Amino acid sequence: MECSVTNGFGDSLDAPSAGEMLEFLKALPPDDAEHGAAWLTDASGNSLEFEVAGNLAFTSASGTRHLCRVSVERVVELWSLLASGDHAALEREPWQPGPRPPLSPDERRAHELRFAEFGRTQDRNFYDRLGVEDPSSPCRQPGCARGRVAQSTLCRVHHYENVLGKPCTFRD
Ligand SMILES: [Zn+2]
Repeated sequence: MECSVTNGFGDSLDAPSAGEMLEFLKALPPDDAEHGAAWLTDASGNSLEFEVAGNLAFTSASGTRHLCRVSVERVVELWSLLASGDHAALEREPWQPGPRPPLSPDERRAHELRFAEFGRTQDRNFYDRLGVEDPSSPCRQPGCARGRVAQSTLCRVHHYENVLGKPCTFRD
């Protein structure tokens, strides 16, 4: 199963080994609430987000739950379960309902910023992966002067909007 880890600085690593996960976690700045977090996501969009203060939040189709005071070694174990698709073992953990203990306003702001940045990076990566447009083969969208990309009858902008269902802010 394809998975990747990302931290609050936007660094990410695809299909990390347990050793790489541990290094990734140990590199987090302990006193930086804005960037001191890292999360593993799988191909289905399930995620396990660790914050340096020790909270681990598990987000899946059934919502978000958390564990408090988790060590980085334990995070590696749980990340590995998610990476291998062993949801049954993950579900046996004593998850507490709700996203985590209440956030202070500063923590909440940092959390929202981090996810907004993460979303932008993901969107940009998606856009980049569409590849170059072929100017000799016009985009099918009426009125569009761009060329289509290799895997689509649309240009990058219109293919992006078609797949992601939201306006594309990239124009290059
Ligand atoms: Zn187009």
